[in-house]
Amino acid sequence: MKRILVIYTGGTIGMVKDKKTGALLPFDMSKIYEALPVLREFNCKLDSFRFDPIIDSSNMKPDYWIGLASVIETNYDKYDSFIVLHGTDTMSYTASALSFMLENLAKPVILTGSQLPLGMIRTDGRENIIGAVEIASNENLSIPEVCIFFEDRLYRGNRTTKINAEYFEAFYSGNFPSLAKVGINITYKPHLFLQKPTQAFKAYKKLDDNVILIKLFPGIKESYFRTILSMEGLKGVVLETYGSGNAPTEEWFIEALTEAIEKGIIIYNVTQCKAGSVAMGHYETSAHLAEIGIISGHDITTESAIAKLMFLLGNFTDKSQIIEMLNSPLRGELSI
Ligand code: ASP
Repeated sequence: MKRILVIYTGGTIGMVKDKKTGALLPFDMSKIYEALPVLREFNCKLDSFRFDPIIDSSNMKPDYWIGLASVIETNYDKYDSFIVLHGTDTMSYTASALSFMLENLAKPVILTGSQLPLGMIRTDGRENIIGAVEIASNENLSIPEVCIFFEDRLYRGNRTTKINAEYFEAFYSGNFPSLAKVGINITYKPHLFLQKPTQAFKAYKKLDDNVILIKLFPGIKESYFRTILSMEGLKGVVLETYGSGNAPTEEWFIEALTEAIEKGIIIYNVTQCKAGSVAMGHYETSAHLAEIGIISGHDITTESAIAKLMFLLGNFTDKSQIIEMLNSPLRGELSI
C-alpha cells in the first residue's frame, strides 16, 4: 500500500462552504477522507500536512518554497509520493522551483488545485484530487518528477504555464508533451519521464531572489530599462523577448544590456511566445544579444527561468558553472 503525504498550502481548492453562513472557509485537510470518501477505494494511505500559514498562491514567495522543500525532505523516507494542494495562480512557479530544489528525486511530487472550491457542486477539485491520488498510488510505476496534474493531464511541472482563469483546462505545456492523459484509462508515457536517479536525494534550501523579469514591449523607454537594470543588488534578469528571442537593435538598448553584463548581471533570454524556442542569431534582431553575452533560455518557460536563476544564484558561486547550467537542462526544463 502506497503512503502519500498530502501537503495543503492553500488556494481555491481548499475552500468549503460553511453550512451555517454559506461563506467559503478553508477546509480541514485532515478530514480529506470525509470530504472525498471515494479516496478510500485506492490502495493507499493518505496523511495530511497543513502549510502554516495557508495562503492564496498570489502570496507565494521563495521562503515558502524553502518551507515546502523542507517538508518533503523531512518526510522523504516515510512516504512513497507527495501531493501538493496549491492555488493555481502561481502553481507553475512553485512546481518549477521545487523541481530544481529537489535533486535526485525518485518519487512523484504532484501539484494540483482547482478553479472552483472543493465545497462547490461543480468543483473541478474533486476530479483533480482523485486523479492525483490515483497516479500517486500507482503500484507499477513511480514518476520521479515534480508534476502538475490538472483537468485530464499530468504535466512536467517546470514546463507549464497557467493560461486560463475561467475554464478548467487551466495549464498548458507548449514545449513538452504531457506525461499522462486521463480518459477512461490513464495513459502513461513512461518514455518521457525523467530517468530514475542513481544518487541520493538532496533538497537545496537556498534561493537568491535578486532576480527580476523584464518583458519587452514596443515603446519600452530607455530610462525605464536603465533604471531597472541599475537596481541595487541585482544579479539576474529574465528578459522576455519577442518570437525566437528577438529584441530592438537600438544602440541604447544594447549599451544598457552590455553595461549590466559587465557589472556581472546574468541576462537570460526567454521568449514571450507560449511555444517555441529562443534561437539567437536566427534573425539579425537577436544576433547582437548573443554577441554581448546574453544566455539563451532555449524553450524554457518564464516561470521556470525565474526559479532556475534563483536556484542557481542561491547555491552556486562560480559564474561559468552557472552559465553552463542555464544553458543545459537540469530537470528536463528545456530541450536542446
Ligand atoms: N487565487 C487563487 C490561488 O492561486 C486561485 C486558485 O487557487 O485557483 O491561490
